[in-house]
Amino acid sequence: MTEAIPTNFQLLINGRFVDGSAGFSSVINPSTGKAFAQSPDASEDQVAEAIWAAREAQPKWGMQSPLQRAVIMRQIARLIRRDAEQLATVLVMEQGKPINEARGEVAEAAEFFDYFAEFARRIQGEILPSDFPGEQIWIQRVPVGVVVAILPWNYPCGLVSRKVAPALIAGNTIVIKPHEETPLTALMMMRLFVEAGVPDGVVNVVSGAGETVGAALVGRNDVDLITMTGSVATGKRIMSSAAGHLTPVSLELGGKAPFIVMDDADMEHAVAAAVTSRYMNCGQVCVCNERTLVHRSRYDEFVERFIAMTRTLTVGDPMKTTTDIGPKISSRERDKVEKMLAKAVADGAEIAFGGGRPQSKDLADGFFINPTVLTNVTPDMDIMTDEIFGPIVPIMPFDTFEEAVAISNNSRFGLSAYLFTNDFNKIMAAVSDVSFGEIYVNRSAGELLQAYHVGYRDSGPGGDDGVHGLDKYLRKKTVYVNYSGKPTAGLMPFR
Ligand code: NAD
Repeated sequence: MTEAIPTNFQLLINGRFVDGSAGFSSVINPSTGKAFAQSPDASEDQVAEAIWAAREAQPKWGMQSPLQRAVIMRQIARLIRRDAEQLATVLVMEQGKPINEARGEVAEAAEFFDYFAEFARRIQGEILPSDFPGEQIWIQRVPVGVVVAILPWNYPCGLVSRKVAPALIAGNTIVIKPHEETPLTALMMMRLFVEAGVPDGVVNVVSGAGETVGAALVGRNDVDLITMTGSVATGKRIMSSAAGHLTPVSLELGGKAPFIVMDDADMEHAVAAAVTSRYMNCGQVCVCNERTLVHRSRYDEFVERFIAMTRTLTVGDPMKTTTDIGPKISSRERDKVEKMLAKAVADGAEIAFGGGRPQSKDLADGFFINPTVLTNVTPDMDIMTDEIFGPIVPIMPFDTFEEAVAISNNSRFGLSAYLFTNDFNKIMAAVSDVSFGEIYVNRSAGELLQAYHVGYRDSGPGGDDGVHGLDKYLRKKTVYVNYSGKPTAGLMPFR
């Protein structure tokens, strides 16, 4: 049964649902290429109102006991689960991922609230002895204040929770800007936040283009933290804009994950993991297997099995539970990937499987692209150095573990890396020598919310999830408490 979807999408500013003063933009279904909803565009004044509302609401929200905040967060989790099917349906329509994956994303969106609610009794400080008798030093963790969150299009529902949940338990208020191509699930979630009892101004959403709404948000001098997930180019723009006000920035940017398969690897599992890690969400995940490196002694076998498994995948209508690969998010993104493929072939890569677009008439208007396997690639080709973000995988052989590590590390990206081997020494050597923020050993993609999703180099100075992710939403306050009854002697107690 298809879920009925809402017809009226509005901004949430200071607890009120309002239209965008800058008008509306069409939201395109990437499976059909057709507009199916209108999303509100916020004006610069509305951006200012949202920040003002967040600023006004923060002291009271921050003063509540974290346990009170956690009660509301658990209610949000319940409401997301209640409306999961409707959210998943709209997610498929706006983003194009297969419904099974959309259901997983919505489930995780709920999970973030339950998980971060657990920190209600766990935000800890420190007490240190002073150099002076009768004095203690307290280091407390306090809310940062007003958070701005800028979101990408690949996980438009899950990432709302990934930013809002830690911000709320920490006692912050937040203004969110979803991506202009996928604003709808974020806007729907606002209704659930209000229903759950989130006070006015604590969570606000302003949708619209990056160059207008996004730039207005990150250029302000009254924001305490900017957290952004998206492309490297935009991340750099945001960081330089924030530098003008010394606003702290947390950036989670692109990736170019190497997937290393050693000669002793369990091939069945390695191939299955390499396939999943490449094609999930049509290859549009920052942790995706972007370049597969296979020991030469097993290379032919690996490529053959990888192609055999790829052949079994269904590209098609993402609303069907039998679909494995949906469309790319937009024609612009599909063109980008097709150009990368053409350039790789011009550079000497061979298409060992796939290429082109699906032939089915039903898919002709959507932004579909066939899963494609490339061989005869070299590490210096653009297809091996630039983020593809689509269902295309270059596979190349290597001779030694050291060579695979060197190829992996020779990248401006440093988010996720994979290794398949049962050799304990190789695992430990990889942990030490692979210069990436996240290493998956003998498993496929998918970070967990209690860990820490963090990248090096161009993958961005930032990180979300777990206790370290939460720490970004807190700042420290140092308090010297003299209880001796006498004034503290001075800076140099023993002179
Ligand atoms: P994008 O940079 O195009 O857009 C991200 C957001 O920035 C959007 O909301 C956009 O409107 C906004 N924006 C654009 N210009 C702006 C400006 N001048 N000022 C303020 N905001 C502005 O990224 P995208 O294409 O949506 O996302 C894809 C990228 O995100 C990929 O590179 C992917 O690897 C990366 N990503 C990283 C992670 C991670 O955790 N590291 C997770 C998901 C996606």
